[in-house]
Amino acid sequence: MPSLKLLLKPSLMGETTEHAIYVRMTLEIPMIKKDEIVLQHILSRGPVKTMQYTSDDIQIKDPFGTVPVYSRDPTRNRRNFFLERDLVPGQLTIEYKAVPWNPTEASPCGPQIALERDGGGLTAAGMGFILQPAVDTSMDVSIEWDLTSTPPGTRAVCTLGEGLSVFAKIKPATLDECFFAVGPLHSYLQGETGGDFGIYWLENPPFDAVALGRRMELLFPKMSTFFNDENTLYRIFIRRNVQKCVSGRGLHRGFVFAWTSIVPRDEDETEEFLTHETVHNWPRLGFSAGGPTPEELADGWFNEGIAEYYSLFLPFRFGIFSEQELIRRLNIRISGYYTNPDRGVKNKDVQDLFWKGGHVNRIPYQRGFMYFMNLAYQLKKANARSLDELILQMVGLRNQEKPHGIAVWLSLLERELGPGALTEYHSMSDAVPIILSPDCLRVVENLNWTLQRQDQEEFYLGFPEDSLYTESPVVKELDPNSRAAAAGLQEGDRITPQHSFFVVAERWGNEFSLLVKRGSQGGGREELKTISWLPRSWEKVESYQFFKA
Ligand SMILES: [Zn+2]
Repeated sequence: MPSLKLLLKPSLMGETTEHAIYVRMTLEIPMIKKDEIVLQHILSRGPVKTMQYTSDDIQIKDPFGTVPVYSRDPTRNRRNFFLERDLVPGQLTIEYKAVPWNPTEASPCGPQIALERDGGGLTAAGMGFILQPAVDTSMDVSIEWDLTSTPPGTRAVCTLGEGLSVFAKIKPATLDECFFAVGPLHSYLQGETGGDFGIYWLENPPFDAVALGRRMELLFPKMSTFFNDENTLYRIFIRRNVQKCVSGRGLHRGFVFAWTSIVPRDEDETEEFLTHETVHNWPRLGFSAGGPTPEELADGWFNEGIAEYYSLFLPFRFGIFSEQELIRRLNIRISGYYTNPDRGVKNKDVQDLFWKGGHVNRIPYQRGFMYFMNLAYQLKKANARSLDELILQMVGLRNQEKPHGIAVWLSLLERELGPGALTEYHSMSDAVPIILSPDCLRVVENLNWTLQRQDQEEFYLGFPEDSLYTESPVVKELDPNSRAAAAGLQEGDRITPQHSFFVVAERWGNEFSLLVKRGSQGGGREELKTISWLPRSWEKVESYQFFKA
């Protein structure tokens, strides 16, 4: 079997500006000839760039000596390295140096892949700094850390394991989706465990990472069992972003997410987010046998909806949430769905409007969640197979790499519920409001709560939200009759970056705060003011909430 030994030698002494990771790969692979690809390099993901190695940055040697390489970029975000002569049999070594980039507060937010400084250490996804050998078979991979150029107390970990030496049988491409962290690491569990589960961070986040770790450690194995997954490997990495970015990213058997001091999140939000992301490991809508249909490319309602659904019901069923906690979170979801000002956007239009501000990007989560709530009820009422059974069947098809696209899903439903299930699916796609039955929780989860109509105010900021996302954001076209104006916000107020919709837009009743600058930008007096208001319209729209029966 071909093998790969990856030796990572971080240099963490001296100034953080000099920190780097020296990478040495030793490969035993089948022969590669002149002008064949030897290494592949992903150049970017969204706005985030990886190392951008060139052929001058890489030293390749075989038993005969140095092997010159050249590169070609077949696409904008991919670079291939080719050999200038045939290899001679034996070991191939490849050496290069990875240097972290320098994000500022104004850097764009994107996927957490690049090599970055954090709390005296370094973190990155594999694709951010490791070149990928052009071998598409499973290999014996060993990852070794040389910590001789790091201060005492330095620890090293990657998704595949903790400590100086880790082994795995994987394809080289899997390394792209592993995460690496080295430095004065904190972790839950504390200290090296040798186990399969862990949460790791460098700089301490504004939330209680240990408490979060404790809850995730309880939850993860139970979720894994629920979805018939026997693999217990799972590691979560938390990193600080200098820029305003709290994005997260699914990895091979793990997850990475960022926090930023610009818009801190609390434990509750972080746990909800992490639970949701963890569900994504299992149920996912796939494609039909002949490849993806346009409908299947707009699969957010399924993937996000089912992640929302199980991120609430599984922790409750496992005893990690109380009944009160479940209801509180359900009410937030339902309220978010009905009071979303963009709730009329159809599924097929969501993708196009996704990044255009507004609240379209929440529709797949909210609408999908309501769809699955309704479906769980209908299946139970019809004495059919349960939603859990159907979803587990979809997960099974995915594991066996069989078609598990929309056609498969709808045929499962039709078998249980008749053609009405298809009509309901199309209504959901077309943004027809979903009204749940008052007794849905009693029927599905045997809980004594009734859904009752309670109209609520729609989300409304009081000025066009685009104003928040320009280069130097200023309040423009403020509605004089809005709650924002009533709270004292003024036309021309300059907006500082300390704001986030992430939570407020979904939580009816929560206030929104904006730190604004007002007055002269020149030598004159400049005022800094925090203005808080209920970011809602004055009129109510149809909504529902659960009340104790
Ligand atoms: Zn998600």
